[in-house]
Amino acid sequence: MDKEKLTKSLKEMIIELGGSHVGIGTTQTLKGGPESTDLNYVLKGAKSFITFAVPFNQELIEPYLAKKDFSLNENKIRTTTFAGGISLEVAGFLNQLNYKAIPIAPNFIYRKDTPNGIRDRKPLISHKYLAVRSGVGFFGYSGSILTKEYGSSIVLSSVVTNAQLTPTDQIPESENYCDECMLCKLSCISNYISDEKIKVNIGGNDFKYQKPNSHWRCIVICGGATGLHSSKKYSTWSPGRFDLPNEDAEFEALREKSMAAYVERPKKDTVFYHPGVPEYKMQYTCSTCQFICHPEKNIRNKRYKLFKNNGVIVEDKVGNRRSVSPNEAEQIILEMSEDRKKLYVD
Ligand code: SF4
Ligand code: SF4
Repeated sequence: MDKEKLTKSLKEMIIELGGSHVGIGTTQTLKGGPESTDLNYVLKGAKSFITFAVPFNQELIEPYLAKKDFSLNENKIRTTTFAGGISLEVAGFLNQLNYKAIPIAPNFIYRKDTPNGIRDRKPLISHKYLAVRSGVGFFGYSGSILTKEYGSSIVLSSVVTNAQLTPTDQIPESENYCDECMLCKLSCISNYISDEKIKVNIGGNDFKYQKPNSHWRCIVICGGATGLHSSKKYSTWSPGRFDLPNEDAEFEALREKSMAAYVERPKKDTVFYHPGVPEYKMQYTCSTCQFICHPEKNIRNKRYKLFKNNGVIVEDKVGNRRSVSPNEAEQIILEMSEDRKKLYVD
């Protein structure tokens, strides 16, 4: 099929199916990029990729950050699944036109040939690198992809194919609204975003963002094992109250301890199924850095205050969670049986 015509059809298809931004690239536009931009790792003879964003329900962000309503959790799970479904539809469509095409799920599919297998959490390809190179969005300080309309409150998904497609351009740096306000970093209770910049070159173009610290920092917090800030004044949606260490290496040990408690806690709300989590049920309780970022600075500031000034999460015996004041939370923990306490504190 004519390259231009197929490219146009794929872009239209993704928008009609529910995507908000579409980017297209080729092995040429990814040339010289990091290992996770190697399309051939996914499909031998690959020529092109299609990457797209699907926004989360923006109305649910502020109630979530204010710890008033956890509905964004379910929306995140369903939107992520939906984005993977669009990849599947696009790959199926290409396949029917006699091209090879592999859908790449938004998350939780890792390389098995790294030293520690899926524990290394190395993706087959990086949706982010593909997205930034093809103009879906730009890198923010956080390392997330920011879109012009929705900040980083989106999910990314991709398809790799041997069809020849016409690439789209990256967004000019002048349009990147990230002003390094640092609210993403300040809102991260695990200190995942380091002070060091990382630069990658993809297809002859440089892209910059802050280097992440050990991925265990985010896994422990975002994966729901624990969530109380070390000031004990505010928390994520996790009722876990384990002490947070300073060093990267200590976070893996914290993961073992807090995850054992997490597994025993009631899980009333919708979960992701993750191959690396005991009993596979993973309840996202953070993503704060992702949801705080918005094109308008006053909205970012408002979201940050909502997150910080709305207390800490506690849960009852059946897993109903609510936000209470830091003092009330201390009292609730104090009055728990010793067996129940072990589910939440050191
Ligand atoms: S929160 Fe601020 S620093 Fe972080 S990515 Fe967004 S605009 Fe950039
Ligand atoms: S998801 Fe939470 S723990 Fe992970 S980097 Fe973002 S703010 Fe930090």
